[in-house]
Amino acid sequence: MQPSPHTAAHLNQPALQNQLPVVAHNEIISRDPATNQELGRVPVFTQPEIESMIARARAAQTAWAAKSFDERARIILRARQIVLDEMDAIATLIARESGKPVAESISMEIVPTLDLMSFFARHAARILKSERIALGQYTFAGRTSHIIYKPLGVIAIIAPWNFPWAIPLGEVVMALMAGNSVILKPSELTSLVGLKIKDVFTRAGLHNDLLQVATGDGMTGAALAASPSVNKIMFTGSVATGKRVAAAAAQNLTPIVLELGGKDPMIVCRDADLPVAAHAAVWGAFANSGQACASVERCYVHESVAVEFTNLVVAATKNLRQHHGTNEASDVAAMSSERQAQIVDAHINDALTRGARILTGGKRNRDFATSDDDTHHADTHTPAHTNLFYEPTILVDVDDAMLVMHEETFGPVLPIKTFRTEDEAVEWANDSPFGLTASVWTRDLKRGGRLAAKIDAGTVTVNEVLYTHGLAATPWGGIKQSGTGRTHGKQGLLELVYPQHIHTNRLPRFADLWWFNYTPSAHTLFRQLARRATNGSILQSALAFPAVVRRFLEMRRRK
Ligand code: NAD
Repeated sequence: MQPSPHTAAHLNQPALQNQLPVVAHNEIISRDPATNQELGRVPVFTQPEIESMIARARAAQTAWAAKSFDERARIILRARQIVLDEMDAIATLIARESGKPVAESISMEIVPTLDLMSFFARHAARILKSERIALGQYTFAGRTSHIIYKPLGVIAIIAPWNFPWAIPLGEVVMALMAGNSVILKPSELTSLVGLKIKDVFTRAGLHNDLLQVATGDGMTGAALAASPSVNKIMFTGSVATGKRVAAAAAQNLTPIVLELGGKDPMIVCRDADLPVAAHAAVWGAFANSGQACASVERCYVHESVAVEFTNLVVAATKNLRQHHGTNEASDVAAMSSERQAQIVDAHINDALTRGARILTGGKRNRDFATSDDDTHHADTHTPAHTNLFYEPTILVDVDDAMLVMHEETFGPVLPIKTFRTEDEAVEWANDSPFGLTASVWTRDLKRGGRLAAKIDAGTVTVNEVLYTHGLAATPWGGIKQSGTGRTHGKQGLLELVYPQHIHTNRLPRFADLWWFNYTPSAHTLFRQLARRATNGSILQSALAFPAVVRRFLEMRRRK
């Protein structure tokens, strides 16, 4: 389905010009958040349309599942080549529709997916190879067991806007390599990027029904989540929506993976390389204007190095260049929506009211002021086009009561707090309903490993920050309210299949000794088995042998 840029001219009224997508007459208008320029229009898919997409996806999946890994990999690698050939055009589309710098569209969206496509094209067969299970003493009774991994069927992928390319495309690749078909619901803020993913696979030769894109808003996502016909939901987004998706999935017992929010801490120890740690804090907090689930959302620095570290962070922050995302000289560009920018406003205001100090930033960048700033259109109650260029902001004198220290800000704000002991830092890091990622900065790698193991999070990096979603081989996912399940790596691929256990009795001519009738010799055998054959010792099991033989002969006589 292609966007139709020519239709519904009546929607071009100023009252409807807004960074939030406009849904009217079953259409979403996609806009560049930096300029408010319309980029295209896409349909809003409804529940009956979703059901017929799922039916087509299911019909196409059977033949796809029957293909070899090599055949599936060929399509993935052809798609990869198209992405590589069209890298600049794709990066520009991502930058325009999401607002992020084109540099990050390449480094944080396209590079990781190129890597992921070749990783799963090359390794899916090995990861999903059938596995023999060691059965211990049952082997002597001629039993074997093995696992084969089978595709689930139709996978629903519901995606956010902050990494509109890398997140859904990675999941699409893993689902397809595992033999599934996919319905992808991109965020309403980044529909065109979602459609571009479809375009790439279609041109790579993928059957049209194996990957379908259901553009739309939350209602479309809700219809997909509530469908009794999808076999798994891979949801990435906010905690609030994740709970709704989980509730809808529960009605059909549809399995789900939830990749939700984070409040990711960074712990800077007294022996950290401070210039490197400061550089990392600035990138980790302000890449994509802080709109990454694994952004550094709070920084704890040892009191003995706090002044030096904070000065370095502030200097590096002031050095950032803020421009439109399509400008190659842009380090930080526009946020993706007014809704998100208002959360940042609220968190900063709350922190200031409670005594925090701003060392730099703290407001929209006036270089990008629009005439509509701070105005609202009375007729629609929707905010007009506002300035989404938020200055990277450093806060100090923060405390845990502040929103910015315990709720996900998801914007370019870095609060810095000092700690005295490592135990204190770990305790603060863990004092959160989230558990997605965390980082520890120290020259002592043993200390790094020790602290990392004490932190409750899906990923903890030592002297690294933010980037491991870009490592195809490593699992991605959180604990607590950051979600459940994994994407990426072996664990991520295993989410997209089910293990079928195949158990074989290679001596089928004999009845099992535990079948009817429960004669006295059966009772004796069962007691012997309980005492001797259940502790894993072959020697002990051998002591039950006479009872086994007696029961065996009895069963033979009955035959
Ligand atoms: P969101 O929850 O608003 O929307 C996510 C998707 O869900 C969108 O496609 C949306 O249309 C859809 N949706 C909305 N209502 C729905 C419903 N009732 N049922 C089904 N689908 C529905 O999230 P967002 O604002 O797009 O993304 C930002 C959030 O995502 C942040 O909290 C961020 O931390 C999180 N995130 C997490 C990860 C991760 O890997 N853990 C990655 C990226 C983003």
